[in-house]
Amino acid sequence: MAEKFKAPRGTFDVLPGTMPQRERLIRTAGDIFSRAGYGWAATPVFEDTALFERGVGKSTDIVRKEMFTFEDKGGRSLTLRPEGTAPICRAYVEHGMHKLAQPVKLAYSGPFFRHERPQAGRYRQFHQIGAEAIGSDSPLADAEVITLFSDLIEELGVPAVELRLGSLGSLDARREYLEELKSHLRSREAELSDDVRERIELNPLRAFDSDHEGTKAVMTDAPQLLDHLDTADAEHFAEVRELLSTASVEYTIDPTLVRGLDYYTRTIFSFVCDRLGAQSEIGGGGRYDGLIAQLGGPETPAIGWAAGIERILLALDEEVAAPGRDLFIAVAGDGQRAKAVALVAELRRAGISVEIDLAGRSIKGQLKHAERIKAAHTLVFGEDDSSRLRTRGESEDRQIQPSEVLEAISR
Ligand code: AMP
Repeated sequence: MAEKFKAPRGTFDVLPGTMPQRERLIRTAGDIFSRAGYGWAATPVFEDTALFERGVGKSTDIVRKEMFTFEDKGGRSLTLRPEGTAPICRAYVEHGMHKLAQPVKLAYSGPFFRHERPQAGRYRQFHQIGAEAIGSDSPLADAEVITLFSDLIEELGVPAVELRLGSLGSLDARREYLEELKSHLRSREAELSDDVRERIELNPLRAFDSDHEGTKAVMTDAPQLLDHLDTADAEHFAEVRELLSTASVEYTIDPTLVRGLDYYTRTIFSFVCDRLGAQSEIGGGGRYDGLIAQLGGPETPAIGWAAGIERILLALDEEVAAPGRDLFIAVAGDGQRAKAVALVAELRRAGISVEIDLAGRSIKGQLKHAERIKAAHTLVFGEDDSSRLRTRGESEDRQIQPSEVLEAISR
């Protein structure tokens, strides 16, 4: 026998058994987004590698280790998108969206790719859903996008989710703090993990995110950014907190919160579900006031988030039953087949969900199959031109003409 194939490591198939959960998630998010004036956008699954190097940051794990990068036949370096914000910002600049009324409010969903070590909740191809409000520095925008996320969690019914909130301050104001943090790290260099030690100069904030015991000990008495915010940043953060409380969104302040991408400024946040084990973050995001300018656009403040669809589904761990069919048409003899096929086409065009046997089953097998697909009604074409309608939950069949079936089942 020929060798069989498997889906590549870290990827998975979504089959009809679990697709309804995904569809419900996207539908729920779509409703929430459209009520708040966010429109769906879609960008290509691959982009110029330099977009992510510049946008996500060369010192990040994503760019250093996790990108699926390849050369196309024209010698260009392309990368399967590891995240959605840089591509959305690229599109904002490319299409001159700064000329539109601001902020531009966009939502997206689709597959993303990171070459990480696969484990529960961590894949090499995963799916995110996200929202971005581009062109406003108002704390109102921060509170709005965070509330959208919180509403999504609420409407889906994801249990045990906590919102953690922090602020990184603006880039200029952060500089002084970073020097202080670096000297703290340098003074205890020997205790740090190799990874953190190598990145003291490039990305010292990442030390807060380390699982390494020695590093964790060093970080317990590290200076904290929240104590070093300048007045403007501190006021901005206070307003965001107040607006969230006004919108009845609960949060906890996490002074050690950092994120894995370089572009964040001011507000950052993370939604965590404690039922998820090691990969407990459902999603997160923050402000990225410098990114659009970094990608060649005008200075444009912005904020957004991304949530992992698989993480949400794992946290929900729910079964969404596939809907049953309105009707199954069972055909006893070959003579009636053409009539049945015509009726199926007509009813489907009229919006009825209807199936007919495609597998050569006996009439008994067809009736069993109608049960299996949870058909609300079954129309049985007899050998002799007669037909009868069987309705779930009713003991008696009814004699009816095929032409009457639409009316009979629409009642
Ligand atoms: P990030 O773009 O790194 O801020 O991640 C946002 C969210 O995407 C995370 O909170 C996860 O829910 C999800 N996510 C990120 N990486 C992966 C992955 N490798 N597998 C599954 N979900 C992921």
